[in-house]
Amino acid sequence: MINKKPYVISGIAKETPDVTLFRFRAQDGSTLSFDPGMFIMLHYRNPQTGEEIGRAFSLASRPDDTELEFAISMIHGKFTSKLDDAKIGDVYFVTGPYGQFKYTPAENKKVLFVAGGTGLAPFLSMLRLIGEKKYDTDVELIYSIRHPEEIIRKQELEDYKKSMHFNYVVSVTRQETDEDMRWQGEHGHIDAQMIERHVLDAAERTCYICGPLKFTKAIEAALISLGVDKKNIKADVWGE
Ligand SMILES: Cc1cc2nc3c(=O)[nH]c(=O)nc-3n(C[C@H](O)[C@H](O)[C@H](O)COP(=O)(O)OP(=O)(O)OC[C@H]3O[C@@H](n4cnc5c(N)ncnc54)[C@H](O)[C@@H]3O)c2cc1C
Repeated sequence: MINKKPYVISGIAKETPDVTLFRFRAQDGSTLSFDPGMFIMLHYRNPQTGEEIGRAFSLASRPDDTELEFAISMIHGKFTSKLDDAKIGDVYFVTGPYGQFKYTPAENKKVLFVAGGTGLAPFLSMLRLIGEKKYDTDVELIYSIRHPEEIIRKQELEDYKKSMHFNYVVSVTRQETDEDMRWQGEHGHIDAQMIERHVLDAAERTCYICGPLKFTKAIEAALISLGVDKKNIKADVWGE
C-alpha cells in the first residue's frame, strides 16, 4: 500500500477568477524532494466515512521550498468542490512525486515553455528554480489563456523578465469582453506562425508543453513543423 503523507493547508489565495493558489505544509515538517515539472497526487479523506478521492496536481513551488504550492482551476468537480470549502489547517494526503516532465538545468540551457491556462503551474516551479539558483538558462514562454484577467502570477513573470534571461508572450483566445478586445498582445490559439513570430530558434530549444490533450497535440505538431526534433519535445497532458 502506498504511504499517504498528511499535509496541512497553510495558504489559500484566489489568484484569478477561476484559479486559486493553495499552499500545503507536511505535518511532520519534512521537505518533499522533486524536480520541477513533476506532480503529486493530492487526496481528500472524508472525516465521517473515511472515503478518499485523489487527483494529480503539478508542483508550482520550488523544490527546496518548505511548502508545496499548487495553482488549481476551481471547476467545482468531484475533487475541486472539496477545495471550495477548504480552510487553513485542513489536512489532505500526498503521494509522489511522479512524472517524467522534468526540467534538468545542466542539460536544458535553452528552453521553450508552452502553457495552456493553469498549465503554467509546472513552469512556475521551473522559473522559480532558475531564478533562485541564478542559472543562465535562456527561457521563452508562450502562454495561452481565454481572458487577460486569467494570467497567473503576472507580476512574478514581469519580474523574471528583468532578473533572468526570460521573455514571455500571452495569447488571449476569446474575443468576448472589452478587456479581451483591448488586449495588446497576441490573440487566438497558439500555432506555428505565432511561435515563429516570437521564437526564431525554436528548433534549438528543448520544448515543454503543458495543458489539455488537444492543446499539447496541436503545439507538438506546430513545433515539429518548425523543425523541432520530436526527442526535444516534452509534454505534460492533464486531460482530454
Ligand atoms: C499530471 C497532471 C497534473 C495536473 N495538474 C493540475 C494542476 O496543477 N492544476 C489543476 O487545476 N489541475 C491539474 N490537473 C487536473 C486535475 O488532476 C483534475 O483533473 C482537475 O482538478 C479536475 O478534478 P475534479 O475532480 O474537480 O473534476 P472531475 O469531477 O474529475 O471532472 C469534472 C469535469 O470537468 C472536466 N474538467 C477537468 N479539468 C477541467 C478544467 N481545467 N477546466 C474545465 N473542465 C475540466 C472533466 O473533463 C470532467 O468532465 C492535473 C492533471 C494531471 C494528469
